[in-house]
Amino acid sequence: MTATETARRVLEGSSRAVVLTGAGVSAESGIPTFRGDDGLWRDYRPEELATPAAFARDPRLVWEWYSWRRQTVSDCDPNPAHLAIARWMLHRPEVLLVTQNVDDLHLRALRAVSGESDRETDREILRLHGSLFRVRCTGCAHGAPHREPVEVRDESSLPRCPRCEELLRPDVVWFGESLDRDLLERALTGAREADVCLVVGTSAVVQPAASVATVAKQAGASLIEVNPEETPVSDLADVSLRSAAGEALPTVLGPSDG
Ligand code: NAD
Ligand code: ZN
Repeated sequence: MTATETARRVLEGSSRAVVLTGAGVSAESGIPTFRGDDGLWRDYRPEELATPAAFARDPRLVWEWYSWRRQTVSDCDPNPAHLAIARWMLHRPEVLLVTQNVDDLHLRALRAVSGESDRETDREILRLHGSLFRVRCTGCAHGAPHREPVEVRDESSLPRCPRCEELLRPDVVWFGESLDRDLLERALTGAREADVCLVVGTSAVVQPAASVATVAKQAGASLIEVNPEETPVSDLADVSLRSAAGEALPTVLGPSDG
């Protein structure tokens, strides 16, 4: 049996799967991962901009970068990998989707396959690293969805909190910040209860997100990895598919031919 057939069989037989995705699942949509030169914006590395210190020093610059990232994502569409995961979830209410991505492509794929247009699908996605399309107040921590263009002319034009007037920041987890405890706990509970863990397009070096895969494996789940490159979880994987997500997942998760 090929690795693809094995993966297919394991996933077909699962009754509680957890899916963990990273930047690689969106790469074929045209959204750069942070590794590699196309992840750079001007001459900045993400580590220089996605930090609380960078925002404190120059919030206008950080907002300019996030505006560019929002625009990049808005110009892209879900790819066959997002769509395959979404279709699979539609038929399997027990599947838990956990993502490190801050784009909205999983959500747009879910809407596309379920025929819903502008209203949120009720299927929850655990976004461990937050969302490009939400903001949070630097003063009172009030959070809200936010899609409107940000005027990055100067600091006075940046968005402010409707409650306390402090600066709003992107509601994403920056380098050096902790993940939301409740979200992480729900992801790890899902991992402990899973019989299969499908890990797609993550370098699996960003902790604690990567622990979703190791916790699932330690609790007895089969681990299936889809990534053109080896990662720290490759050694633990029961099946490794060394292909692009958009090529592998429609076959692995799609309806059977017969
Ligand atoms: P990452 O650590 O998740 O690494 C990307 C992985 O994807 C690599 O292992 C690479 O081999 C793999 N990959 C590349 N193309 C692929 C494909 N077509 N199919 C399957 N796998 C593929 O991501 P990162 O870029 O190092 O970013 C770290 C963090 O930065 C993320 O956890 C996320 O929070 C954030 N980020 C998010 C986005 C997004 O939302 N789309 C993009 C960049 C970075
Ligand atoms: Zn506030």
